[in-house]
Amino acid sequence: MKSFFEAYFLFGLVAGTVIRTVYGIRHKRAVAAFRFAESPVMFVLMTLWGLAQVLAIVYVFSSRLDFADYILPAGAGWAGVVVFTVGVVLLWRAHTDLGRNFSPFLEAKEDHTLVTGGIYNTVRHPMYAAHFLWVIGQALLLHNWLAGASGIILFLPIYYIRVGREESFMLERFGDDYRRYMGRTGRIFPKM
Ligand code: SAH
Repeated sequence: MKSFFEAYFLFGLVAGTVIRTVYGIRHKRAVAAFRFAESPVMFVLMTLWGLAQVLAIVYVFSSRLDFADYILPAGAGWAGVVVFTVGVVLLWRAHTDLGRNFSPFLEAKEDHTLVTGGIYNTVRHPMYAAHFLWVIGQALLLHNWLAGASGIILFLPIYYIRVGREESFMLERFGDDYRRYMGRTGRIFPKM
């Protein structure tokens, strides 16, 4: 392992994977009543994003990807620690608040409820906000185009493709309740 920052990334990756796995198991237990088809582009982008996380592990444990390193000002690693930590905590909090309504897909469970409390009282997409913090933190911790910054490049289109479709889905499912909720919350930044 190269430095504290690489080790810290790995620690966060394990924490994030544990959160995802625990809520992923719960999601599988809740029966889906209705699902929007995912676009093939989204599938490709998500696969590439998963691959970027694998490259990050390769980078931490070897020097094979060092040819794609970049140099950041001193202090970038510590900024990465802060941003990445907030991202992981937000990821956990959003999963806790969304509870059994969580799904990696665009779907409604049989007894799906509209969550507007907890962190969802402030922003409509705290998980996506957490992923933004994750990819920014990753680029600050791992100074490498393939293992670090590639996450930002991949997550931007994932976010823009997903968020609009998800809001259409929620409007179809919850109608005026979701419209009112949209009126008082921001997507990933709290509404002023
Ligand atoms: N976009 C949200 C949730 C991501 S998980 C976030 O970033 O936190 C995706 C699933 O969550 C979708 O299947 C959708 O049905 C569900 N979902 C999104 N917002 C919701 C809400 N406010 N209440 C209940 N379910 C929601």
